[in-house]
Amino acid sequence: MKNEMGTDIQKIGFYFAMEGEGRDFVDRLGLHHVEPFESRFPGKVFRGKPSLNSGQNIEIAVAFGGHDPRQGCDRIGTEAAVLASYVLCSNFKPDLFINAGTCGGFVKRGGSVGDLYIGTKEFLFHGRPIPIPEFTEFGIGRIPALKAPKLQERCELKPGIVSSSNGFTTDEEERAFFIREQVDVKDMEASALARLLNDLDTPFLAIKAVTDLVDAPQAEEEAFVANYRSVCEKLTDKLLFIVNCLNGAGNLG
Ligand code: SAH
Repeated sequence: MKNEMGTDIQKIGFYFAMEGEGRDFVDRLGLHHVEPFESRFPGKVFRGKPSLNSGQNIEIAVAFGGHDPRQGCDRIGTEAAVLASYVLCSNFKPDLFINAGTCGGFVKRGGSVGDLYIGTKEFLFHGRPIPIPEFTEFGIGRIPALKAPKLQERCELKPGIVSSSNGFTTDEEERAFFIREQVDVKDMEASALARLLNDLDTPFLAIKAVTDLVDAPQAEEEAFVANYRSVCEKLTDKLLFIVNCLNGAGNLG
């Protein structure tokens, strides 16, 4: 079936930075662990052909950055995201790639904890100011986002500009950047993956659920920890709905 991404979708690749963000999605689809992923890296891949409500055959592969062998935590951030996603794409060759996960939102942009966004317009990088003219815009990224208005509407996703960096906290310069660029979603992976999938000429979507608010009194990390589980549950439900939507008898055009 052709959809608004202009391709037949038979294989969808996913990347979650944290295993806790994607574990329920993997389990509920009944995907199996594929070994080896790339034995020198800690990333993990799960794969399968789930039976979907629509009854169609869509193969799904999910990659995680994996646990860092030294620090023990999930390898969040851009490097592991690009590496694991590149390995996944090289082997699996998806027709569509989705980066799903949690994010920071903005009260001033109408965001609330639990909101589900789809990245629109362009993907940016904050915290990468490069005052050398030919590199300034490269530092900011501005990778064009895929237009998916029907998916956005049918799946009740909020549209928003996503900005990524490898840091979790926000400094003053970054706050000014967010206001100037009207950023709605702040995370640590999506824009790096937008660039990778753009290079690989594969349609890319970012689906992000708000765990914390950058411009609210509560510290981002405190809100993140408090809201993480409940927001991940909402994210899983939405992703399962999206998978069935993408599959659903031409209803996305
Ligand atoms: N400090 C957390 C772990 C990191 S949270 C803990 O205590 O477990 C960062 C992860 O969630 C990243 O993968 C990022 O994409 C996402 N994220 C959620 N809220 C974020 C925010 N406000 N800023 C940046 N990334 C955020």
